[in-house]
Amino acid sequence: MFSVQSSELQQISVEDLMIPAEKVAHVQNQNPLEHALLVLVKSGYSAVPVLNPSFRFEGIISKTMILDHILGIERFEVEKLSAATVKEVMDRDVPTINKKDSFLKALKSVINHPFVCVVDEDGLFDGILTRRVILKQLNRHLHEYNNGR
Ligand code: AMP
Repeated sequence: MFSVQSSELQQISVEDLMIPAEKVAHVQNQNPLEHALLVLVKSGYSAVPVLNPSFRFEGIISKTMILDHILGIERFEVEKLSAATVKEVMDRDVPTINKKDSFLKALKSVINHPFVCVVDEDGLFDGILTRRVILKQLNRHLHEYNNGR
């Protein structure tokens, strides 16, 4: 049977697979919701990381969180987009991973999330790891294993 433990996957760390911070769209915790919604709509992403002004990871914000926040009884209260800031709406309760973590830990971390944020020991944001990249890597190794049999 295919064993992740005994394969080359064991040699791969989060660092090899992550999208580095400079290529990741993000917003700051003090930004108005309007700015976050613009970033989300223009980038086409459903959620992006939230950082503080010192580039420390704070959480994530999604289109759904913003739409839920501005939903009134009968209409979207769009005036709330400029009145509220990202930190009032964002989700802080999200897992993070370290760039030195193993492929197996990365695989586990994306089971319930389309992406996880990569954060260092001081809380500084290093990038993100997507479920797509993990599945791609796993798929490649499964094919290589099957072809080698
Ligand atoms: P993907 O696997 O490319 O579909 O990405 C899954 C999710 O990860 C997206 O919906 C975004 O929330 C996030 N994501 C992927 N790439 C980026 C990026 N370059 N900047 C910000 N968020 C991203």
